[in-house]
Amino acid sequence: METAFDTLALHAGAVADPTTGALLTPIYQTTTYRQEAVGKDKGFTYSRSANPTVSALERRLAALEDAEYCTCYASGLAATTVLCLALLRAGDHVVVSQAVYGGTVRLFNQVLASFGVTAEFVDTSDEAALREAVNARPARFVFIETPANPTLKLTDIELAALVAHDANALLVVDNTLLTPALQKPLELHADVVLHSTTKFIEGHNATVGGALITSDAELHERFSFTRNAIGAIQSPFPAWLTLQGVKTVGLRMAQHSENALRVARFLETHPQVTRLFYPGLESFSQFELARKQQSSGGALIAFEIDGGVEAGIRLMNGVKLCALAENLGSAETLITHPASMTHADVPPAQRQAAGITDGLVRLSVGLEDPADIIRDLSQGLAQALVLAKGAA
Ligand code: PLP
Repeated sequence: METAFDTLALHAGAVADPTTGALLTPIYQTTTYRQEAVGKDKGFTYSRSANPTVSALERRLAALEDAEYCTCYASGLAATTVLCLALLRAGDHVVVSQAVYGGTVRLFNQVLASFGVTAEFVDTSDEAALREAVNARPARFVFIETPANPTLKLTDIELAALVAHDANALLVVDNTLLTPALQKPLELHADVVLHSTTKFIEGHNATVGGALITSDAELHERFSFTRNAIGAIQSPFPAWLTLQGVKTVGLRMAQHSENALRVARFLETHPQVTRLFYPGLESFSQFELARKQQSSGGALIAFEIDGGVEAGIRLMNGVKLCALAENLGSAETLITHPASMTHADVPPAQRQAAGITDGLVRLSVGLEDPADIIRDLSQGLAQALVLAKGAA
């Protein structure tokens, strides 16, 4: 029988310190490594290329995604950058989900575009649109984020893999919002999984980090080479914190999902909520797909309230327990206004096309008692109502 996920989260890749027996993998805070003789080292030479603490995290994350290889990075966007620099050349083209993290859009539109790489943003939840895009122009890879940040639109991973592979493209899945505890893209035939470990993997709002995970040796080789060439590796201390955080990822994701479902049910019947997106609700338009490829709804909820942008801002300024912040995926509940915060650099027309309206509120439901989160949202919504009435 295979070792279970929660056991791997605690043990995979851990190596007790050989001299002291210390149970936790130490923070190897070192730049370089003494070599026994010229050309004879213990697998580590310089911490831009590899570091034992980072390697321990890589073994753990690879095991959790049921993969052979993982490379960790200074941030999620450093991982996306290495992915692109490793696989793309001037003149290459990629197809990207229309609704993705704003920083991913910025990277393609405002950085890679000047190196001759083109990206077409497509509604990858629509099979015909995806097929048309990859057939119209050869793409090196299809990059999907599912659920997408912040609209929670889903893309069928297995179908996207089929369409991409038919067109000789790779499929890359940003699995940040669910983690391997709730979704395993490689099992659904994706070629590469990307993570911002900043979010649920580390889970405590303590680090910034990223990862690229694959079972393809050649892709892994290219990622390692590029990471070293541009200097994008994770540092030992955040890697060590992530090794601690990830131990509870299975437990946390289960609780995040349970809490989010409670909060979503509260919002679903609230008279001020005009639109609500949560993949764990039966009323969610892609509920069946969520059930097929996710083991629960996850922590993220998106919604709009009566009174438009002004009321939404009033709500976000009015909550007390929920923190108004740019991150998602932490133990604390975070509330965000994507249009002015995480997705501010996405051109307004592209935002609208992706369903990121100016009134959309994103909630990353944390691990507080859900009754307290609901109470806080309730009083925040009451404040928004005052304004909505006053403005009318
Ligand atoms: N992918 C997703 C889905 C994200 O939400 C983010 C950040 O918000 C990133 C990637 C980028 O990660 P980082 O902020 O660690 O660079």
